[in-house]
Amino acid sequence: MSLSYKVFLHSYLAFNANSTLFYGDRDAILIDAPQLFSDCHRMVAEIIPMRRNLTHIYISHFHPDHHFSLSVLAHQFPEAKIVALPSVVKDIVFTSVDKVDMWSIDRFGNDIPSKTTIPMPLHEPRLELEGHELLFFDDWEGDSVNNSVVWVPSLKVACATDVAFHQCNVWTLESDVQRRVKWRADIKRLMDFDPRIVIPGHHDEPQLRILEEVHDDPSRTYTDCVDWSLKYLDVYEEAYTTAKNGTELVEGVNKYYGDVRPADFNIQWQTRLIFPRSAPEWLLPLPGPPGKIFLNPNGVFDGDPPKE
Ligand SMILES: [Zn+2]
Repeated sequence: MSLSYKVFLHSYLAFNANSTLFYGDRDAILIDAPQLFSDCHRMVAEIIPMRRNLTHIYISHFHPDHHFSLSVLAHQFPEAKIVALPSVVKDIVFTSVDKVDMWSIDRFGNDIPSKTTIPMPLHEPRLELEGHELLFFDDWEGDSVNNSVVWVPSLKVACATDVAFHQCNVWTLESDVQRRVKWRADIKRLMDFDPRIVIPGHHDEPQLRILEEVHDDPSRTYTDCVDWSLKYLDVYEEAYTTAKNGTELVEGVNKYYGDVRPADFNIQWQTRLIFPRSAPEWLLPLPGPPGKIFLNPNGVFDGDPPKE
């Protein structure tokens, strides 16, 4: 029996992140949990009628939009083991309090936890699902340090998690010029798996439909998020390098991606960080003071420095 997958796309408010369920006849493994309880309840309502035994929930990296709602899943699926690679468990432990503090803002109300659920470390970077392997690889540069990628050889499906996005503004806030060099190389490295399908970590509704279609039609491939993400980073790089004020930065990116609504606030926050004085007033306010938000597991900000 071959495996199947189902992708769950989460809300605009929760960054258009996704979760992917891999399942066989009896069992299932879920990759990532959404940021918001409300998104997680919606997803759980779809998983329950599938009548699969959820054996594991795997968390790809420390960003809250991939694990904040774990308590909802733990309550509904008490037998499922919540796991991550050891480096990711460490990252989540180190960022747990900081991220809960940072996101305790009106934007999320009581839709996020007051305390995070910490995954257990995997002893080896693989899980088995009805005789098929799911393989995990950490230390990929993406929208943060230490993303991990999931590869399912029997399906030739890669979950890029936040190494690649598609039709969703890319979270550039936690990368600087140097990090984006590694990020680009890692986006390209996704193709080394020789995948039939690369599932991006964030995308829009039409991509979800495509992911459903290619699931059902083995003659099709879908790896478009690779080139899309490279292009987005090129556009951002060009705008970042040439912009002399906030308007030029946000317009430099929106010239190409102004019609991409998912996570459109990313470039607005990015602009406020880089041009704190000349950022146009209409941009969404930052969720906290610069220097205290979007920190990595070492408590350090990895993003581009302000230009003014
Ligand atoms: Zn994410």
